[in-house]
Amino acid sequence: MTDPACDFYCDKILKGLLDVSVYLENEHVFAFHHSNPIWENHVVLLPKKHIESLITLEEADNDLLLELMRAAKLIARDFMERCGAARVYTNLGEYQSSKHLHWHIGCGKQLRPY
Ligand SMILES: [Zn+2]
Repeated sequence: MTDPACDFYCDKILKGLLDVSVYLENEHVFAFHHSNPIWENHVVLLPKKHIESLITLEEADNDLLLELMRAAKLIARDFMERCGAARVYTNLGEYQSSKHLHWHIGCGKQLRPY
């Protein structure tokens, strides 16, 4: 079971408490290389604003959602060039370990189970 209040991104990543390798960052979105990657190439993309999950997005978040998808597209295009195939997904419920909306974008050899 995961702690429903766990928010690794607000609590650690966005506060700069962990030394992560940044893939891209702007005013609204943040993407970094996963420190324990599932695949050879594995980036985590998230909004800087706290949003719990895909299904708690609101109409007022539409501009932010578009910006997130622009970033996802850019990363996915990069991964397609590297690997010729890529995954872009977000988890919900018990599959979502940290309750802050984020997408996993990955490609290449699988390094560990997920
Ligand atoms: Zn958060």
